[in-house]
Amino acid sequence: MNKIKNVDEITDIILNSENVVFFGGAGISTESGIPDFRSVDGLYNMQYKFPPEVMLSATFFKNEPKEFYRFYKDKCLKPMLNSEPNATHIALAELEKKGILKAVVTQNIDDLHYRAGSKIIYDLHGSSFRNYCIKCKKEYSIEYVLNSKDVPICDCGGIIRPDIVLYEERLNDETVEKSINAIKCSDVLIVAGTSLVVYPAAGFINYYQGNKLILINKTEVPNEDRFNYAYYGKAGDVFKNILNRLSS
Ligand code: NAD
Repeated sequence: MNKIKNVDEITDIILNSENVVFFGGAGISTESGIPDFRSVDGLYNMQYKFPPEVMLSATFFKNEPKEFYRFYKDKCLKPMLNSEPNATHIALAELEKKGILKAVVTQNIDDLHYRAGSKIIYDLHGSSFRNYCIKCKKEYSIEYVLNSKDVPICDCGGIIRPDIVLYEERLNDETVEKSINAIKCSDVLIVAGTSLVVYPAAGFINYYQGNKLILINKTEVPNEDRFNYAYYGKAGDVFKNILNRLSS
């Protein structure tokens, strides 16, 4: 079996199942204008004093909150607030409505799956659209954080932080359990737009037990042998095709 498939073949496998789970990463939102980390125009290839995983770590947030927020507002929040869901987000929400897709497991923090209308979403790394004071837990909007001067401060004087999982922090236990369970129970697992190097999230696909593990990615990923099918290209190529087929 040649595992490299074209857009129509991948579409057929997905539309012929009633138990699909989607596992995605930053590459799913590049077509909405949000840079990922590892593409040529991703954040790793922009010149900063430190790599993104240092600037988005718990230690950096604690020791250098002003620098953390300078980077985070400019490179994460601004693009997120200027973006709209793309064909992949929209098609996934449609597949869920049709009863084909059972869950979206995402490493993204941009809320685009919510905005596209997906309901069952396990956002492993949290959301930039939720923010709270580390002292009194009062909640704040993303706009409040973006428009604050330097570090956003609560009425009580505490620092406000995004409800995202910074490097060095633990994932939420309940979200992990639900993600693993959805993956274990799926017939088709689509893995898309992720370099599969950020752990523990990347390890979750090892829980898949079926024989329709699909990779949709622009570039190669580690341990490609484990995939049953692969499409190398933009996720939007496949999901625009799915949208066309669903509407015909
Ligand atoms: P990554 O940057 O390490 O890898 C992205 C992968 O997606 C690459 O392999 C790239 O080739 C591929 N890709 C890029 N555009 C694509 C497209 N249109 N179609 C298909 N594939 C495409 O991202 P990661 O594996 O998700 O890990 C980075 C970490 O940073 C994650 O925790 C992620 O949540 C976070 N992050 C999130 C956002 C966001 O919320 N949009 C943006 C940047 C980083």
